[in-house]
Amino acid sequence: MIANYGYKDGSGEYFITIDTDKCNGCRDCVSACPGRVLDVGPDENDPLSDDEVVFVTDEERKKIKYTCAPCKPRDDRPPLPCMAACEPGAISHSW
Ligand code: SF4
Ligand code: SF4
Repeated sequence: MIANYGYKDGSGEYFITIDTDKCNGCRDCVSACPGRVLDVGPDENDPLSDDEVVFVTDEERKKIKYTCAPCKPRDDRPPLPCMAACEPGAISHSW
């Protein structure tokens, strides 16, 4: 299942997308995220599943544009830490 967390405003769309079918709950992205944006727990989009998957914390869902800004790619920056940490490729960003 695809889970989208974020919002859009006058300046653009800011979503973090999780492919929960790819996420194995390893927490590598949680450890890699300097902004404490991510956590792992029961899949709120699939209450019947026992699997734990990554999600964007409630506190961060309305401000990821700002919290994630220091990670965003520029010529002199490496890939996003969360995406680089995720071996299965379960995380993507809309901006
Ligand atoms: S690193 Fe990838 S597989 Fe591991 S918890 Fe994060 S999103 Fe899921
Ligand atoms: S872009 Fe940076 S702050 Fe945002 S979720 Fe990924 S690692 Fe965390």
